[in-house]
Formats: sequence, structure tokens, C-alpha cells
Amino acid sequence: MEQGFAEVLARTAFIDGPQVARFEEEYAAYSRVRHCVAVGNGTDALELALRANGVGPGDECVLPANSFIATAEAVYRAGATPVLVDIDPDTFLIDSAAAVAAINDRTAAVLPVHLYGRLVDTTAIRAAARAHDAVVVEDAAQSQGATRDGKRAGAFGEIAATSFYPGKNLGAYGDGGAVVTDSDELAERMRLLRAHGERVRHRHETVGFNSRLDSLQAVVLSAKLKRLDAWNALRREAAMRYEAMLADVDAVRAPSGADEGHAWHLYVVRVPDRDTILERVRAEGIGAAIHYPVPIHLTPAFAYLGEGPGSFPEAERAAGEILTLPMFPGITEQQQSAVVDALKKCTA
Ligand SMILES: *Cc1c(COP(=O)(O)O)cnc(C)c1O
Repeated sequence: MEQGFAEVLARTAFIDGPQVARFEEEYAAYSRVRHCVAVGNGTDALELALRANGVGPGDECVLPANSFIATAEAVYRAGATPVLVDIDPDTFLIDSAAAVAAINDRTAAVLPVHLYGRLVDTTAIRAAARAHDAVVVEDAAQSQGATRDGKRAGAFGEIAATSFYPGKNLGAYGDGGAVVTDSDELAERMRLLRAHGERVRHRHETVGFNSRLDSLQAVVLSAKLKRLDAWNALRREAAMRYEAMLADVDAVRAPSGADEGHAWHLYVVRVPDRDTILERVRAEGIGAAIHYPVPIHLTPAFAYLGEGPGSFPEAERAAGEILTLPMFPGITEQQQSAVVDALKKCTA
């Protein structure tokens, strides 16, 4: 990485240096799709992916009520209306049947979120979207490296957006994001939108944005990408250890039915009386957290949608029960034992 940094500094090509194009090629190959277009962050990646598909005012976009707020923000920022749907209580992912039911002729895009590192099965959603001329824009911010049937995010819809925020499975040393897609046309639109609408210097074909990945961040990401699969394997091992350790903790419901290709961005369990338990395990020195404590429709930001309490019962129930346990590549068995011991003590 030091040599890569030195090259950037020597050429002073901090923006749009050759390192960015190199990383884009590497990440496209890794994602097993034709194109990667890097941008400033994951939220921009989602917004520009929607805009590249022509999504705008008057359009509806279907997304799950339980996600990081950015999924809904991107829809709002593109000028479209977020249409939230409930989640599947077993996977915490978008409820496929609810999503299909929400798709109509006003729907321009559906945004399945591969939350916690687990891929959504998009088969039914994609078919329904196609039938209504809507596109599938995957939110793959939490699922770098996740696979299903030999495919990765970006291959399950028209385009997928991801984030290289430092805490993600593939994180930069600052903000970063990208889209991956098999579509030449969408990749081209993305390249226009991310850099002031210009293909040729000073020829602004459309009103664009300034959303680019820094060359220095591309150096970091290229170096870390080489280790992503090994890190994800360590996450998977840790998840399997948690599952075994939690089997005899009655109050804790561990994630179930996860397939091989789960990228285990977060390890999220359900517990009753979560707020009390969270407070107690934190007092024991355990870095547990909640992703996310408030479903999107109940945030003040999206109150304008008019979906009050009770609108999405599974998302609301989950928000009150979910607990994220410490999870990172290389977490040791002892560290996990300490987490589980604290949970046992605090739920007894
Ligand atoms: C992190 C994240 C984003 C946004 O990415 P940023 O790079 O922080 O803008 C979007 N969606 C989900 C599900 C995320 O976890």
C-alpha cells in the first residue's frame, strides 16, 4: 500500500488517477460483472444508480422498512417516493411477497437490501419488476463478497450499489462507494453523472454531480480486496462458533437458515426485553449495538410518508428485539465466549 500511496503522491493525481480505474476493474472482476463505477460514498452510489435508470419525480421505489436510512434517502434525493414494505421475520430481509404486492405501474425501481451480509432471493421481485417496467437496484452496502449460485450482488438486478465506509466488509480509509452492473449503458450513465455530466472535458451533456473515489482510497481498496474472501471466511467461522455457543442460551434466538454465501457483515440475534439486556451487556464491557433501532417509517425524517406505528409490524417487532453482537474477521473464540457468557448472565 505504501508504494501505491507514493505513486499517487508523486503524480499528484489525487482525483481520477489510474489507481481508480485499476480498482474498478478489479472490483468488477471480483463481482463477476462487466462494470464497476466508483463514487464518493454508498449513498451517492444508490442515488446515482436510481438516476442512471431515469428514476425521478412521480416514480415510486419499493424498499424494506428495516434498512440503514441511506436506502430511503437515496430514493428521496432522486426525487422519487419511497414505498416501504415489511420484512421477513426469519431473515430480517425485505418480504418478497410484500414487495411484489407493492409493485405497480408507478413503480420505477425496487431496492432489495442485502442486509447484514445476507443476499435477498430476488427471483420473484425481479419477475414482478420486469412485468411493470421497473428495475432492480440492489443495496449491496453490507454484502461485499456474498454469493449465491456462483453470483454476487450486481448480478441479481440491473445494478447494485455498495459502500466502502470503513466499517463495511470492504472498507476504505474514509468514505467511498461504487456501483457494479452488467449494463454498458448504465455504466456509461454513471460515469457521466459522477463527474459533472462530462465525458469530454468541459462538455457538460447533463447536470451531474461531484461524487468520485479518491485515488488514495482506491489504493487502499485494491490492497484490501485481495484479502476480502479470507476475511469473510473468518467472519463465517465466527458466525458458526456463535451459533454453537448460543444453542444453550434460551433467551437468545440466533440467525437461522443462513446459506454458505452469507457475508456476515453483522451478527444479529433476537432477545426479549432488548433494551434492558443491551444496557446490561454493555455494562459488562461488551460492544453490542442495534442495527437499526428505529424502522425507516418511524424516523422523523420519513414521517411525511404517513406510515404510523403498526404499518409494518414485523419490522417494528424486530426493531425492539434485535441485538448486534461483536463480529469482525479474527474475533477470537475467547472473545466470543466472553460475549456469550455476558449474554447468559444478563438474560438469566
Ligand atoms: C452503509 C450503508 C449505506 C450507505 O453507505 P455510505 O457509504 O455510508 O453512504 C447504504 N445502505 C446500507 C444498507 C448501508 O449499510
